[in-house]
Amino acid sequence: MDGTAPHQQAKDSITMAGKVYIVGAGPGAADLLTLRAATLLRAATIVLHDDLVPAEILALCPASAQIVNVGKRCGRHGRSQEQINALMVWHARETEAQTIVRLKSGDPAVFGRLGEELDALRHAGVEFEIVPGVTAASAAAAAAKITLTDRRSASALVVVTAHNARNESLSKALVEPARSTYAVYMPGPDYGGTVKGLVESGYEPATPCAVVSHAGRADEEVRYLTLAELALVKGITAPALLIVGEVARRSQPGTDIDLPNMLDGPSHHIDGNDPGIPAISLQP
Ligand code: SAH
Repeated sequence: MDGTAPHQQAKDSITMAGKVYIVGAGPGAADLLTLRAATLLRAATIVLHDDLVPAEILALCPASAQIVNVGKRCGRHGRSQEQINALMVWHARETEAQTIVRLKSGDPAVFGRLGEELDALRHAGVEFEIVPGVTAASAAAAAAKITLTDRRSASALVVVTAHNARNESLSKALVEPARSTYAVYMPGPDYGGTVKGLVESGYEPATPCAVVSHAGRADEEVRYLTLAELALVKGITAPALLIVGEVARRSQPGTDIDLPNMLDGPSHHIDGNDPGIPAISLQP
């Protein structure tokens, strides 16, 4: 004990705690970065970034910022996902770094191992925020001067990877609704009809989903439901996006993680068959 009153210690630990911003860097051009991402990079005290993030984006960080490449490209030894998770938690809890930026290429939520990082932050009770970025699929379509959906010929977009942790085949990932995420644009106003279509495609009525109105704006509204509940719900304002699948099941804060072991332990990959940088392919 250092003689400080317990309430003072608690207050200090709150004011000392850093916040983690998981930021999408977009496809690589600095001018495709969001303004929010650029603002955070200029204010960053520590930046933990992936290999694909180019130097011109890192150049936005102040000279005082600590910049760490935590990337793990094929054929080069890098940090394990567990170590990256532990680093984020450690910086948020144990250092005076107030603005911890976890910078990922494209959009963090697309093939960025975001789920594992969110689990670690939630379990550790670390405050975090996600800043979306332009995903490679959007950038690729723009570069190719094509559309991803077309109301005349392409009403579905399924984003898949040729590499996954379970080593499953592509066809299995595509045909099994229980193993897929569908991002449904323009899901309303007939949510009952949308749910009916999804259930007819093979989804269980108990499948979790999230419906997000005004995403990224001040009046953003998120509801976590099952498909059965969504069919009955009223008052979802447009524009809204519906995300269907296991990913929409909310993680709960849980027990603490073993920080020292994770930081010092041997490097090992989460899936035992780490594919490095996965490829994206699009259907249909
Ligand atoms: N979170 C990223 C994807 C990370 S997985 C995103 O949203 O874009 C890495 C894969 O994304 C690469 O193997 C490649 O297939 C794709 N990718 C990332 N940046 C790209 C770019 N600028 N052009 C084309 N493909 C890109």
